[in-house]
Amino acid sequence: MALTVLNHPLAADLLTVLRDKETTPPRFRQHAERLGYLLVAEAISDMPTDTVEIETPLEATTGISLHRPIVAVAVLRAGLGLLPSVLTLVPDAAIGFAGVQRNEETAEPMEYYTKFPDLERARVLVLEPMLATGGSLSWAIDKVKENGAKDITAVCVVAAPEGADRMNTDHPDVRIVAAALDRELNPNFYIAPGLGDMGDRLFGTL
Ligand code: URA
Repeated sequence: MALTVLNHPLAADLLTVLRDKETTPPRFRQHAERLGYLLVAEAISDMPTDTVEIETPLEATTGISLHRPIVAVAVLRAGLGLLPSVLTLVPDAAIGFAGVQRNEETAEPMEYYTKFPDLERARVLVLEPMLATGGSLSWAIDKVKENGAKDITAVCVVAAPEGADRMNTDHPDVRIVAAALDRELNPNFYIAPGLGDMGDRLFGTL
């Protein structure tokens, strides 16, 4: 499996603020957005490009443009925390949503909403900040594949070994970019040390 863990002091600094239980929701959202810039930049770092001829104010030169459109699919609700980073870096990106709720007893995904733009030609970034059991991400990737996606990268903040293993089994073709690979899942299926419930921390719910 292609799991890339960011190796950057700024990413580590931003993630530390997210992990800190004293971080308030406004600061959490701000730092999630900042960390998202580094994650999204890495997630598109291997994209195919075209050479284009342009003129600077001084002379003709060649430049680079991305060969494919970018689509981001936010896995609700925590994936919304990375959406501002995509839209700032790639304002032309089209956005899809995958609504899935975790069954708190079994940790299995339960679908409640999906809406996707055209996925066929695009680099599809699936935004799923907490790769815990891998159930939600694997489900979301099944959905985008059913809707035509072929070039998929998952963007995570924290991954657990259990989730990474499940992705390796279910979707070995999908690259994962994360800011950290943590120790384990606890008995309640939370990532440890982790950062808690990403959706609650983003939106101030209990
Ligand atoms: N979802 C979260 O928000 N946090 C975890 O630790 C696991 C799943």
